[in-house]
Amino acid sequence: MLRPSMLLRAARPVTRLASVRNYSSQAPALAGVDPSKMIIQRTQTPKELMKEEDLVFGRTFTDHMLSIEWVAGKGWSEPRITPYQNLSLDPATCVFHYGFSCFEGMKAYRTESGELRLFRPRKNMDRLSLSSARIALPSFDPDAMVECISKYVALEEKFVPKKRGYSLYLRPTMIGTQRTLGVGPPGSALFFVIASPVGPYYPSGFKAVSLEATSKFVRAWPGGTGDKKLGGNYAPCILPQQEAAKRGFHQNLWLFGEEGYVTEVGTMNLFTCWVNKEGVKEMVTAPLDGTILEGVTRDSILALAKEHLGKEGWKITERKYTIKEVADAADEGRLLEAFGAGTAAVVSPVRRIAWDGGANGVQRDINVPLPEGKEAGPIAERVWKWMEGIQYGDIKSDWSYPVKA
Ligand SMILES: *Cc1c(COP(=O)(O)O)cnc(C)c1O
Repeated sequence: MLRPSMLLRAARPVTRLASVRNYSSQAPALAGVDPSKMIIQRTQTPKELMKEEDLVFGRTFTDHMLSIEWVAGKGWSEPRITPYQNLSLDPATCVFHYGFSCFEGMKAYRTESGELRLFRPRKNMDRLSLSSARIALPSFDPDAMVECISKYVALEEKFVPKKRGYSLYLRPTMIGTQRTLGVGPPGSALFFVIASPVGPYYPSGFKAVSLEATSKFVRAWPGGTGDKKLGGNYAPCILPQQEAAKRGFHQNLWLFGEEGYVTEVGTMNLFTCWVNKEGVKEMVTAPLDGTILEGVTRDSILALAKEHLGKEGWKITERKYTIKEVADAADEGRLLEAFGAGTAAVVSPVRRIAWDGGANGVQRDINVPLPEGKEAGPIAERVWKWMEGIQYGDIKSDWSYPVKA
């Protein structure tokens, strides 16, 4: 368990003193996250490494965890790397009752020459800081947090698999730790990171998925929190996913509004490729209007597509589009590809979308073409190669962040 003093201290109700209000000229400086103050306590019982082919996503974890506590009026305490262990929290702790929880998903990759790299980690920490602030938890200096994570990954070096396609999945998390049933801003918080070695999402090549276009359940809405990675956004999506699975679909394609706007697929952003009505090849994805999670993969694919496909005459577009537009493109032979995009799979090709809004509301299939005998279209395959090349350090890029101890 974490040193009792750590969480007991954090669990004590914190009085907010007038003197620590931000506008007070006497306000003591709040401590920021300081990677140079890192305290490292190594495990005495190192774990056996699993065989790489036996790894299951999120099932096994490394020897250590990184934790940093925050207290209102004081700021951040020194970062600690400790043995991986249970948290000890009072049952009245606010995270258990009101969903004060947000998280990130990112990976550490090993290059051909054995160095460790993160992929655009600053983006994940920017996003976590915004998610955290949205639920009245503390924000932080994203660069300092990246440095802490980098030190942690360096310490867990042996757990970053050597095989291509494998990686160390990192789960930075922020929770409210104040012990109170009062509904209000938590007076204390805990940031922690755990890490799980993972295999490729598609161990034996792509497997295109079938989607059920869902309007009965709504994942995100204007003014809501769908653009933040809050724990509370995910639990409500399991039941719709189970219902879709019962009918033989892998994932929900989340629609929004009477217009049937296409938003995201499962927990991935969605890209659709078609020949548009003007006869131009176009890659389209929903815009960041507050209902779309701002995926790092999404952002990266948009930039890479503009660079590479732009030269080939493709139009790369962020705009609202409807499921009817996708169905029309399929009917008119203009639909080229569709794929999900996220850290876990990088790209996840789609083969079929069931939609209940056909003529007279009759359920119909939208078939997404795939090349004969293949599970991914050429654009999905190229995007995946560009991303992988950067993630594993084959292609030199500012997006690749060398891990430093
Ligand atoms: C995490 C997530 C994504 C993908 O984000 P990446 O940064 O690319 O991993 C997309 N949609 C939702 C709903 C997510 O939770």
